[in-house]
Amino acid sequence: MSRVYNFSAGPSVLPEVVLKQAADEMLDYQGSGMSVMEMSHRSKVYDNIIKTAEQDLRDLMNIPDNYKVLFLQGGASQQFAAVPMNLMKNGVADYIITGQWAKKAWKEAQKYGKANAVASSEDKTFSYIPDCSDLPIDEDADYVYICHNNTIYGTAFKTLPNTKGKILVADMSSDILSQPVNVSDYGLIYFGVQKNVGPAGVVVVIIREDLIRDDLPEYVPTMLKYKTQADADSLYNTPPCYGIYICGLVFKWVKSMGGLEGMKVHNEKKAAILYDFLDNSKMFHGTVVKEDRSLMNVPFVTDSEELNAKFIKEATEAGFVNLKGHRSVGGMRASIYNAMPIEGVEKLVAFMKKFEEENA
Ligand SMILES: *Cc1c(COP(=O)(O)O)cnc(C)c1O
Repeated sequence: MSRVYNFSAGPSVLPEVVLKQAADEMLDYQGSGMSVMEMSHRSKVYDNIIKTAEQDLRDLMNIPDNYKVLFLQGGASQQFAAVPMNLMKNGVADYIITGQWAKKAWKEAQKYGKANAVASSEDKTFSYIPDCSDLPIDEDADYVYICHNNTIYGTAFKTLPNTKGKILVADMSSDILSQPVNVSDYGLIYFGVQKNVGPAGVVVVIIREDLIRDDLPEYVPTMLKYKTQADADSLYNTPPCYGIYICGLVFKWVKSMGGLEGMKVHNEKKAAILYDFLDNSKMFHGTVVKEDRSLMNVPFVTDSEELNAKFIKEATEAGFVNLKGHRSVGGMRASIYNAMPIEGVEKLVAFMKKFEEENA
């Protein structure tokens, strides 16, 4: 067996100890005589898996008691619709457009009400986070929406927008559990798990209880009402059982790494190795404004398309895979999520140095 260093933006690298534990428990989960894939979601043994996963996430993020945690399906993209359907009471929301995911969410919200784009960084290919200290927040806005970490462009919010008292909603798909979060700053946080937590197929919603409404428009599908899911403790129908189990193992792993404080130290160390190299390289350059750099997704380029292609090809052959940048940015992108070991980034940088010397 030989494992590569996988810099994929998602689905992405998972902790090896988690994969090994899952393999060990594949045929017989803790004496149940069956795989987690084979058990009823109503069984006692599964109930323990989902309850423990929720509790561990609550511990890690310090989630206050007046927030519900929902394990759902449909990916982050389904939340682009669920959020406006559930939270638009006045039918108005303000969106901050910092990349394709935020833009998609904004477009989707327009189906259900008036969705204003109150700030955008599209003028410079989303290479920065706009100043959000004094935005034209709509008086009737039911919420202000951000994408906390922009997976494709490699920017992240370091300061939260001034929402002027409105509820903040955040898509944290690509930086969840990478650093501490003050959950009380948000009315709703959601994340597709396949970037930093588990296998594709699970999306987690953390929502303040008073935002869970009973008086939604008739058209809202039963499955997309947070009320339905909250009342049933995420078991209204069959949940993505196996995915939730893996998420639970990853939550335990994050705890073993020192929780979110520990992850932050680990992630800052890793990102610094790569950014320091990019800042000093004559061949490779980062593509975003320094102050807004993501800890998780690091896009970079050389000045030549041919050199980019040659680098990606040779890196792949050397075991550094999925470094091709998103088609809208080009160049390269190294996603260095929680589970990427420091050694992976050190070796990548050593490889980049060598490549630079050989191709100068
Ligand atoms: C990957 C990603 C999405 C889309 O996730 P799906 O689960 O594929 O719908 C949305 N937002 C962000 C920030 C992402 O990184």
